[in-house]
Amino acid sequence: MKMNKMLSVIMAMVILVGCIVIPASASEEEIIPLEAEIYCGAGYPKCDMRAHGVATVYSGSSSFTSKVFNGFGWQCANCGYLMATEGDPTNSGIIGRYAMASPSNGARVQYNDVAVAFFGGIDGSSYGNWKDDPYFGKACTFKRY
Ligand SMILES: [Zn+2]
Repeated sequence: MKMNKMLSVIMAMVILVGCIVIPASASEEEIIPLEAEIYCGAGYPKCDMRAHGVATVYSGSSSFTSKVFNGFGWQCANCGYLMATEGDPTNSGIIGRYAMASPSNGARVQYNDVAVAFFGGIDGSSYGNWKDDPYFGKACTFKRY
């Protein structure tokens, strides 16, 4: 009789543990998509930014005047997103001032195979190593090829 009582206590504990474990694993499944944040417009976690010639940022809204800086052009190999950086993230690691745009945003950016021109000024600046930047460290990789 004492053995049966012990068994029923053990059974109750197994059921309890089972109840605790099942909701925990269910909530882990809910967390996984949140961790895999999607930054690339083509559905990849990060934009795969490849060197895309010289980039110039102009403060004017449509004319090639009022130059802000000459820097480095980048384009995502997957979604085509364009970026101009004042520094070279693949060399110094520092982005500096930057501008970004979707390739279809003709009022913001014009580009060909060797050059990119942004209008309307910069979007911001980042002066640490880009890998430590709270946004770019998660959203991009930069490659020279
Ligand atoms: Zn992308």
